[in-house]
Amino acid sequence: MPGLHYWREELLRLLAVLGLAALAGWLAGDIALGLLGGVSGYLAIHYWRLGRLRRWVQGNPSVSNAEPPESFGLWGEVFDGIYQLGRQEQKARDYLERIITKAQESSAALEIAVTMIDAQDCLVWWNLAAAKLLGFQNPQDLGRPVTNLVRDPRFAQYFHDADYEEPLKLSVPGDQSRTLEFELALFGKQERLMIVRDVTRVHRMELMREDFVGNVSHELGTPLTVIKGYLETITDNVEDLGQQWHKPLAQMLQQATRMENIVRDLLTLTALETRAVKKRRQKPFNLARLIDEIEQDTKQIHHAKEHEISHHCDAELEIIGDRSELYSALSNLVQNAAKYTPAGGAIRIEAECDEAREAFEIRVVDNGIGIDEQHIPRLTERFYRVDVSRSSETGGTGLGLAIVKHILMRHDAELHVSSESGQGSVFTCRFPLERIRGNEQSPLAVQAPFPDQPPRLNVH
Ligand code: ADP
Repeated sequence: MPGLHYWREELLRLLAVLGLAALAGWLAGDIALGLLGGVSGYLAIHYWRLGRLRRWVQGNPSVSNAEPPESFGLWGEVFDGIYQLGRQEQKARDYLERIITKAQESSAALEIAVTMIDAQDCLVWWNLAAAKLLGFQNPQDLGRPVTNLVRDPRFAQYFHDADYEEPLKLSVPGDQSRTLEFELALFGKQERLMIVRDVTRVHRMELMREDFVGNVSHELGTPLTVIKGYLETITDNVEDLGQQWHKPLAQMLQQATRMENIVRDLLTLTALETRAVKKRRQKPFNLARLIDEIEQDTKQIHHAKEHEISHHCDAELEIIGDRSELYSALSNLVQNAAKYTPAGGAIRIEAECDEAREAFEIRVVDNGIGIDEQHIPRLTERFYRVDVSRSSETGGTGLGLAIVKHILMRHDAELHVSSESGQGSVFTCRFPLERIRGNEQSPLAVQAPFPDQPPRLNVH
């Protein structure tokens, strides 16, 4: 065992001292007194060394800075051991200091403000950008509650609500032209990391885009409404006009309706592409009721074609999503099925779990005109139409499926299309199972509505 020989040496030394002391005592005629003198001398030497150790340790906050006092034996080993421990600790400290300095230098170079807040909502640390953006002052603001320093009731509410899924945008106090975006994350024991960015430029661009979209809808939509209004009035009294006006008037009305639809769909698409997904708006809602609503609306719009429209969906089932967006997507698919299925045809909406794919599917199945295989991969492209003249007749814009695709993407879902010319089509919206809540016991099986299902092909 290392160090054991020091103990042996020390024991021998003690025995030698006691032996010599006993001999001296015997010579002086009192062995006990000799032994007492020897033990006292031995103890005095140990106390003296202990004193040196104390002075050495106290004189050096880091005992690794100064060489240990000269010593031998057991005490030499104690001094060396402490010295080595000190050196190791110093190395670890140097390493940590280097890392902290690097972290501080890199965080100082960031344009993003980073602040650490403790469980009592007080500032613990912040970087240079936080000092510049939020005006935090070192050391005065250290330990002060963050809500006393960012003095906006919306921030206080956001901070205490602890629902940090979406960031909070606020204008800079005293400078309304600048906008800051606050993001918070919880860590450790109710501690928070606050990240703040200056999003003035992005915010301005967002406002400009919203203005632009608003202007387009107004500048194009208003004249179109007026033109269509007059055209409808004239068409109602078409008998008063010559025969030569009947066809041009019908075409003008058809094209005006189409343009109106294009403006509406373009605005919808722009909004879907540019607006961030608002998790707060994605809530569970009853799917069967939504499908029933779409079915009724479609029956009403296309009543002349007398389609046989039916659906299958578990009445209890809930889907998590933005109801108005999913209404728009599913309604687009069902309206298409109605548009491209001749009178008397059948349309079926099915909602069920696909256990093999571990997904939930909503399918819109029709036995209409179908689509040639070559067109299927391009269907979700903007303005892509299989048959331009037929689509125009039905008021189609070629934007419907692009809208469907975007809405599904915002719900982690995909669109799959299978179709065969002349046989009918199946448009499948495939959702992850996590989006579904319902009665897990009840199997959502449904029989195939049409005997011959066309082969499945995917749209990317
Ligand atoms: P549109 O407004 O022209 O209907 P969409 O993007 O909704 O535009 O559809 C693109 C094209 O896909 C349509 O022009 C049509 O040719 C074809 N299509 C969509 N749904 C069906 C369907 N159920 N049956 C046959 N063809 C369809």
